[in-house]
Order: sequence, then C-alpha cells, then structure tokens
Amino acid sequence: MLKVKKFTFNPFSENTYIVSDNLNNSVVIDPGCYHKAEQKELESYIVKNNLKLKSILHTHSHLDHMFGTAYLADKYNIDLWINKEDLDTYQSYEKVCEVYGIPITFSPNPSPNYLELDKLVHIDGIKFKILFVPGHSPGHVAFYSQENNFLINGDCLFENSIGRTDLPGGNHQQLINSIKNEIFQLPEETLVYCGHGNETTIKKEKSFNPFLR
Ligand SMILES: [Zn+2]
Repeated sequence: MLKVKKFTFNPFSENTYIVSDNLNNSVVIDPGCYHKAEQKELESYIVKNNLKLKSILHTHSHLDHMFGTAYLADKYNIDLWINKEDLDTYQSYEKVCEVYGIPITFSPNPSPNYLELDKLVHIDGIKFKILFVPGHSPGHVAFYSQENNFLINGDCLFENSIGRTDLPGGNHQQLINSIKNEIFQLPEETLVYCGHGNETTIKKEKSFNPFLR
C-alpha cells in the first residue's frame, strides 16, 4: 500500500507530493518548497517517518513545481526524472524565475534523467504508469498507480477546472485531448491529486467539470 502525503508550498500554492511504500522508500513529486520553513517542513516529515528518499519526479517543469528540486537533489544526493519533451521548460527555469523577480539559490542539474512514456517506472515498492498528457506544458506527464487507485496529475485536470494553456508550449486542444483520451480512460473512482487545490475523482470531473462538457 502506497502512502501519499501532500504539502502546499510557495506563493503559487503548489502541491508537492511524497509517495512512500511499506518499507519507507519514497519519491518526491514536483517539489515546490521554496522558503527555508517549507524545506524544513518537508524534511521533518522525512525524518519523522524514517523515509528513504530515492528520486525526484516532475509532472512538468514549471517554476512553481521545481523550486525545491535542485536543493533536494543536492541534499539527499538523488536523481531527477522528467519527460524529455519538457526539457525546454526545465531549462528555462532560471530565466523564468528572473522574469518573475524570484531569486534562486540552487541551479538545476543540466542533465536530468528521462522517463519512458506509457511504461511502468519502478522505484523500490513504488510503481507508476507514466501517462503522456501534454497541453499545459509540452512534455507534461501524470503518474498512475493502478494498485492504489490514484493519479498524480500535475496541472492538467483540477477540481472543476483545467490547467492554463497560455504559457510557452501550451495548447488548449491538446490539453482537452489529453484529459479525455488518457485521464478519463482510467476507472471512475480513481483519486486524482492535482498540482493546485483539492483532490478529485474521474467520476466527479466527468460529471461536473464545466471545461469538459
Ligand atoms: Zn504548471
């Protein structure tokens, strides 16, 4: 049984997730911890639960989803995994922070590892199918645990909303297609963890999401 812990970090109210298995092996998805207090909050959870942090995964590499990436990679000496098609987004991190006037102390590793789309990724007891769901960003992926009946879907689908598509590489029709052809193909009771805001389910969004009628 996997355990999912959610944190909400940084001025963008981004959701960071730590997923751990029975033996406390864990991955962090979209680490948005920016301030020292946020880094501490994440670390306290790791220490308190005796977690062994193994990898960092990105659903996509917008700044609010990766403020903590370089910091954690360095502190825990762990690898980062992204989709290759999101590399431009990832590499523009420092430039975008500058545009927003957000000072950063850690620079991202220039050569992250690449996830294999539609394949299963195994990290100890943690197993995810990698769904390719572009539209909000060109290389956006979502992490699906069939056994545990949840999806960590970043900024594609939100409770009663969908991701914005006005950022570089965004495409509205592509996002709609990703949601309908990938995310909505999952079982209706699948719990969906979002990059911002509350959890939802496939069933709820199929029934009530005004953007997907
Ligand atoms: Zn985003």
